[in-house]
Amino acid sequence: MKNNSIGKDLLECALLGALSWALGMVAFSFAEILTNSFLDLYQPWSVWRVVLLTYAIMGSILGLGAGLGIWFLRLLTGWRATSAVPLLMGAFLGVFLLMVIGVPLNDRYLPGFFDPISLATNAAAIAVCAALALGGFVHLRSRANGMLWLFFVNLTLSFGYFLSLSRYFDMYVLQTEPVLESVLSFGGAALVCFAIWRCGIRVLAIFGGERLLAKFAVSGLIGIALIWSVGLYLEREVQPHGKAASATAGKPNLLWIIMDTTRADHLGTYGYEKGTSPRLDELATSSVVFEKAISQASWTMPSHFQMVTSRFDSGKENALPDDYETVAEILRDEGYDTASVLGNYSLGRRSGFDQGFADVMDGPVNIFYLKFFDKLPIVKWLVHSGLIAPDTAVRWFHRHTFLEGVGARGEDLTDRSIEWINSRDGDRPFFLFLNYMDVHDAFDPPEPYRTQFAPHVDPMLGFVRFDPVEGEAIDSNTFVRDVLPTMQQEDWDELVALYDGEIAYLDEHIGRLLDDLKEQGMLDNTIVVVTSDHGELFGEHDLAYHFKALSEEETHVPLIIRYPAGMPPGARVPGAVELNDILPTVLELASIETQAPMDGSSLVAAALSGNADEGPVFTYLLRDPRAKFPHTQAGHLLGIRQDGQKYVWSSGGEHEFYVLANDPKAHENLYIQQGGAPPELEEALARWRDSVGLNEISQEELDPVTRDRLRALGYID
Ligand SMILES: [Zn+2]
Repeated sequence: MKNNSIGKDLLECALLGALSWALGMVAFSFAEILTNSFLDLYQPWSVWRVVLLTYAIMGSILGLGAGLGIWFLRLLTGWRATSAVPLLMGAFLGVFLLMVIGVPLNDRYLPGFFDPISLATNAAAIAVCAALALGGFVHLRSRANGMLWLFFVNLTLSFGYFLSLSRYFDMYVLQTEPVLESVLSFGGAALVCFAIWRCGIRVLAIFGGERLLAKFAVSGLIGIALIWSVGLYLEREVQPHGKAASATAGKPNLLWIIMDTTRADHLGTYGYEKGTSPRLDELATSSVVFEKAISQASWTMPSHFQMVTSRFDSGKENALPDDYETVAEILRDEGYDTASVLGNYSLGRRSGFDQGFADVMDGPVNIFYLKFFDKLPIVKWLVHSGLIAPDTAVRWFHRHTFLEGVGARGEDLTDRSIEWINSRDGDRPFFLFLNYMDVHDAFDPPEPYRTQFAPHVDPMLGFVRFDPVEGEAIDSNTFVRDVLPTMQQEDWDELVALYDGEIAYLDEHIGRLLDDLKEQGMLDNTIVVVTSDHGELFGEHDLAYHFKALSEEETHVPLIIRYPAGMPPGARVPGAVELNDILPTVLELASIETQAPMDGSSLVAAALSGNADEGPVFTYLLRDPRAKFPHTQAGHLLGIRQDGQKYVWSSGGEHEFYVLANDPKAHENLYIQQGGAPPELEEALARWRDSVGLNEISQEELDPVTRDRLRALGYID
């Protein structure tokens, strides 16, 4: 073979590889967009833009590699019986199939990648997919009749529909993980997509080799119609049942806003002086501000579950069981229009948090290949070679995966909320629950807030859970173990500056929502609640992030309630209150009675008198005892705050006791010095623990080293 022929062949293989794989990824992405849109999974365009671009780039890079591989194979064997194109397409479909099978297989059913069973199963999966790819190649070559590219797109689209649909069935319809149901749901989705694919082929056959656009359009329309009908069938529209509209007319609306991960002491109305929250400070002047609101948990799920049920025991599991009566269910039964707009993906429909909401606009789950991509060596290589700046890589491959509900920004969530409020007809009141994720890491404030709060800060610092050296995501415990000890005070200050910038950004978009209500004359007839599910640690107690302890930094959150008709504007309540108190409070303000049992109590009287009754406030944090939490406080934690004192019992033996009058941030643990906690706190905590059903938590078996260390410190006998 002549050299120039080898060169031409190389170029052809590489270019066609890049082109066909990029086309395949874009077709798949298009199927994902269609499916998600018709199944009403919330996706801002900003996210799809990233998905399309990323898929196209990754497809072309991987396809380039595949093209080179095939060229090399042909060079070695001298086999040139056919064009490289069907082979490249077959290889794409084979790799794709491997991902389809491999990801859920490894995630769910296999014990860990390097386990012998996993290795054997994965090897078998690769063999099956390689065989199918070869079959696909033969099939494509014989059936395509000059329409190879269309044939390929049709097949990839069907694959894409299959993936999205099966994930949807799995996450939202079944909400369980038994093998049989999973197989049935995947099988059902496969049947639908097979039908779509066959329709596509029929259409191709009818039109022959001409009128390409018409063929695409008809094929696409059939796909859309099928997907749409499945979506309509699955959409379990919750009709308001209960009181008629006329009975509820005149009831106030409820707007309940969670600023996920916001500490109280970073808002102006709580004494912060950096100007993070002008709009919320303004809101506070016509609201009641609870100066010491304590979240019942230091992470998202248990905190939200307890808040919306006012039940301590609803926060014990990672999903909200059906038998709790939530605020959305109570208000739906009163005839309210109910909706939730959720930036935090963990509150999506699969968590059980959707109970009672007629409309759920939640974070997406289907774009799971982005998560997969940040593990690819090619991404690390792109970062190391300087072709992509690290923060760009993180924004593309990491932040948009799951940490911020796939990049759902405050701006999008506010737009979506305004749209929903204005789209309703009739005179029923509304209940809108909003979770904004901007303040949660990654700390990546949009302009102008980046310049205003953190002008000279390296953007990478804000991605606290991304390791730029390894080029991949790390979990928060790894961060605490490996990165935290290297952080200097100025690093923390810079990180906090980014965090503050996110708060300021969110403040603007919460303000925009309130402006819209005001313009429509609805603000004064709306109970507005602004709070957070937990706070954040920035090196205090040698910890970072949240879900680490029951520290003040993690549990002291803002609580602002505005309803001038029922609560004195501008009042401030200094005493400690629980987020469990919000639900009884809003029900009293709206004059709604319910039989549902609640652990919290209404704050209306406290708002009127300016005094909380200072009853005990409880918090708890349960952790999988099998999980290792290096450099964090070990085990389950149960906390009580009463009469200016705070006591945290730990199943790992490291108990804490603080006197908040002298030590409001609870940084000086007096447990050993005082020889334990006061008996009245011990007793109140024991009674509460019994009532919540947390008695199964016991002092864990400590390893000998830990036991000796704790004994030396005086924690245990
Ligand atoms: Zn959270």
